Amino acid sequence: MKVNFIDLSAQYKVIQSEIDEVVHTVLKSGHYIKHKHVAEFEAAFAKKLKQKHCVALGNGTDALLVALKAMGIQQGDEVITPALSWISTAEVISLLGAKPIFADVDPDFFTIDLADAARKVTNKTKALIVVHLYGQVSEPLLLKKFCAENNLLLLEDCAQAHFSSYQQRVAGTIGDVAAFSFYPTKNLGAYGDAGCVVTNSEEMATLARRFSNHGGLTKHEHLLEGINSRMDELQAAILLVKLKYIDEWNERRNKNASLYREQLSEVIQIQLPHIAPEAYHTYHQFVIKAQQREALQLFLKAQKISTEIHYPVALPFEPAYHTLHHTPNHFPVAFKLQSQLLSLPVYPELAEEQITYTCQCIKTFYKT
Ligand SMILES: *Cc1c(COP(=O)(O)O)cnc(C)c1O
Repeated sequence: MKVNFIDLSAQYKVIQSEIDEVVHTVLKSGHYIKHKHVAEFEAAFAKKLKQKHCVALGNGTDALLVALKAMGIQQGDEVITPALSWISTAEVISLLGAKPIFADVDPDFFTIDLADAARKVTNKTKALIVVHLYGQVSEPLLLKKFCAENNLLLLEDCAQAHFSSYQQRVAGTIGDVAAFSFYPTKNLGAYGDAGCVVTNSEEMATLARRFSNHGGLTKHEHLLEGINSRMDELQAAILLVKLKYIDEWNERRNKNASLYREQLSEVIQIQLPHIAPEAYHTYHQFVIKAQQREALQLFLKAQKISTEIHYPVALPFEPAYHTLHHTPNHFPVAFKLQSQLLSLPVYPELAEEQITYTCQCIKTFYKT
């Protein structure tokens, strides 16, 4: 048996007729940028999240950049961001001339540790970026309380958390602005790059729209310098089809996660992902903490099972941030996790036999 880490073509085959039809509709329409499908997607996505505004963009990294710009982040500001994440959540801060200030993460939930974030607040701190890592929403009330007490704006990075929730609060509806990625491997993925920001603030939505469109809402309006970041009609049409299935796909990921939990519960050498009882996790990744992680990964690879590491180097220790002179004792949790974490395949189309086979191989490795 072979187990791929992800198989995007398996999902395409299920919805092929619908996708092919909308793709041809767009191709024949003669409108490829900013037309009816983009407007429809923005309306549908905002509606599903029960938020007032959605601005469709070129990718998730741009969404974070545009969101920070809309929040007024500028040169000299500090923004707190988690040590364990994809690099987008740190690099966009620097791109605006502001300074990324890393905070350590929780050893069990892997999301930002607000106690450490509290130690990092200065009079220059303007915002906090929370990453709902792997599909788990960071505790909303604590986040809101923390930001209110410290007078910070809250940006949610929802790239890994499409329709994850915590006590009915859905990711993307908790902070001031939220950024989504629709990179093909995300839970809701386009067939190319795409992203968006979502907010209830009319002012921030307008700023986001302007900044992402050369500083204006219309073609020859340039109220400020901006960037060019837009979702194209093909991606919007594809995402509109996929939006109908996202809840079902998230459910399947949950089912896969339950199978892992049942079959791996006795293996003492690994720690299964913790989830808060009030949370609906959408398992963008199913991440375990594993003893002898490297050896386990190699063993599984030899059994034709692909796994990944999210992330092998925590952001403060990346060469890009060497100028900040961070050492492991500044981020002890993230440093330890980078050698323990292992992501197992969890995509919706995975077969039960593939999960059973993976679990058997893990047990064989640990001889349990
Ligand atoms: C994927 C991802 C992004 C970036 O999205 P792109 O569309 O690839 O630019 C940002 N943050 C996190 C946490 C991600 O996983």
